Amino acid sequence: MDQVTVTLPDGSERRVPAGTPVRDVAAAVSPRLAKAALAAEVGDRLVDLSHPLEADVPVRVVTPESPGALDLYRHSTAHLMAAAVTALFPDAQCGIGPATEDGFFYDFVVDKPFVPEDLARIEVKMRELAAADLPYERQMWPREEALRFFAARGEPLKVQLIEEKTAGQAAVSCYTIKDRDTFVDFCTGPHVPSTGRLKAFKLLSASNAYWKGDARNQPMQRIYGTAFFKDADLKAHLDRLEEAKKRDHRRLGRELGLFMFHPWAPGEPFWLAKGTRLVNLLTDYMRSVLVPEGYQELRTPLVFNKALWETSGHWTHYRENMFVIDAEGDNASGVKAMNCPGHMLVFASDVRSYRDLPLRLYDTSVLHRMEASGVLSGLTRVREFIMDDAHIFLAPEQIGEEVERLLRLVAKVYGDFGLVPEMNLSTRPAEFLGEIAQWDHAERELKRALDAAGQAYGIKEGDSAFYGPKIDFSVTDAIGRLWQCATVQLDYQIPERFGLKYIGADNTEHRPVVIHRAIYGSFERFIALLIEHYAGAFPLWLAPVQVVVLPIADRHAPYAEAVRGKLAAAGLRVELDGRQEKIGYKIREAQLQKVPYMLVVGDREGEQDTVAVRSRTGGDLGARPVDEFITAALDEARRKARTPGPGA
Ligand SMILES: [Zn+2]
Ligand SMILES: [Zn+2]
Repeated sequence: MDQVTVTLPDGSERRVPAGTPVRDVAAAVSPRLAKAALAAEVGDRLVDLSHPLEADVPVRVVTPESPGALDLYRHSTAHLMAAAVTALFPDAQCGIGPATEDGFFYDFVVDKPFVPEDLARIEVKMRELAAADLPYERQMWPREEALRFFAARGEPLKVQLIEEKTAGQAAVSCYTIKDRDTFVDFCTGPHVPSTGRLKAFKLLSASNAYWKGDARNQPMQRIYGTAFFKDADLKAHLDRLEEAKKRDHRRLGRELGLFMFHPWAPGEPFWLAKGTRLVNLLTDYMRSVLVPEGYQELRTPLVFNKALWETSGHWTHYRENMFVIDAEGDNASGVKAMNCPGHMLVFASDVRSYRDLPLRLYDTSVLHRMEASGVLSGLTRVREFIMDDAHIFLAPEQIGEEVERLLRLVAKVYGDFGLVPEMNLSTRPAEFLGEIAQWDHAERELKRALDAAGQAYGIKEGDSAFYGPKIDFSVTDAIGRLWQCATVQLDYQIPERFGLKYIGADNTEHRPVVIHRAIYGSFERFIALLIEHYAGAFPLWLAPVQVVVLPIADRHAPYAEAVRGKLAAAGLRVELDGRQEKIGYKIREAQLQKVPYMLVVGDREGEQDTVAVRSRTGGDLGARPVDEFITAALDEARRKARTPGPGA
């Protein structure tokens, strides 16, 4: 029999008869490796352990520690779930079931939506199938047979997938669990060798979905689940999900009276009194930071004639994401979806000299984008929002210094919120506009600025927009989730489109470069991040209500009002809870509202001009003179989120 030579990752070689399954190579290395093996990399292909070795080739056995192993494991769990669903709901039609970043899903066509009891039954069935340790087997079927088989079984979606993905192939790859009757799926694999390998999994939820994610297609039911190699990892993940649920900004936004939504304005938040205060605090703070940096704040129109959007290119490339007014007429207009084009008109409205540069225009106008109703979600996907948006017009030789300033600014702002941004530089993509020399210069300058900032950063090669390189910033919140926020995006194209120019020191005309930059990103999304990061317990400087004064009895109301007045005059956001409720009840309510400080006043406090201070986290902090409390509170607010306050 023919022999083939396989090369293992340590460089050692083994001779085996041709056709030997890769599983036998793992077993020959060590019983431990055979036990841990899930699949294998043969050459540059990921294959099942049953894959026969037919040529001289490098072989790497995939174990739970290997990169990519978790995806394969989760996708195998999706098959297991589909097997359980089709066993329990014989009429269910299968769609697709990929692994995702933190688990897997599978889409089904079923008569009625899955309810939580269904998920529980499906999970029990999955455990039954896992306990039986049934083999996953890859079978190559003649294409015509596969098409006939799935058509006869009433699976038109699988027929469609086979037709689309295997045109011209003689045979297609199908995976069974145990046998065709138990479960079979059209899939390229690979999969774990048997269901017994799948242990730590959990089904999480079901939701509406559409075939290929398109609302014009067949409605489906998607079941989400997650799976890990170890029970401890699964438990940690479920704990994190539980914690995330408690912090969900949609729930906290309602409970804390920050914002609401109404079906008559989908995706457009109503900011309630406390939420509006928060928006204003963030607006004032950003203004206080930007004015000393030389930014000029503008207010620009909300609706523009389509001529503007034609000039900017949005009418061709972005129109379906815009709200369009009188679309049929010649005078169609688009509701503003971004500030950039308007700012270009401002720059072009005057003769600009190199001495005016960098020119920094800042704008928090309301923006509208036509997001599909299916993707709207709380404050993170909205149709109406504001940004801390600025456009900086500068000469090419100013890029490095300006970006250095921007990096310092971003670090300062995020530091004030107790957040540490991670930075990534995205470089020239394969398809780009402009001169290579221009790009090289810009990328060199961005790298130089990043190096000068002295903090590690990542590079995403080829990941920038076609019009210029960018730096993006993301932050990890209190429970370890990554949020993408700020961006610094260079743009060589928009100044071309609008024919922008400035007079250089050489007295001739030059083309400026534009930097689009936002530090919060959208206020809406940033506020969602803050709510979830702080779990609604905002640091003192951001709390919509910082202090509540709680009189013990009616007769203490005049003193309580005097205390409230004094705090308000000192600039603290203070409320008085004068309701005739028990003091314990009023304290509990203030704690639920996550008010940082509660000042209880009774007979003794009135006589001594003091307040009994309680913090939402530290409980009873004892009595203090009113003035002393005011000084300490103002000091804590000034420090923002940089250091824990006295009550934290
Ligand atoms: Zn599969
Ligand atoms: Zn812009």
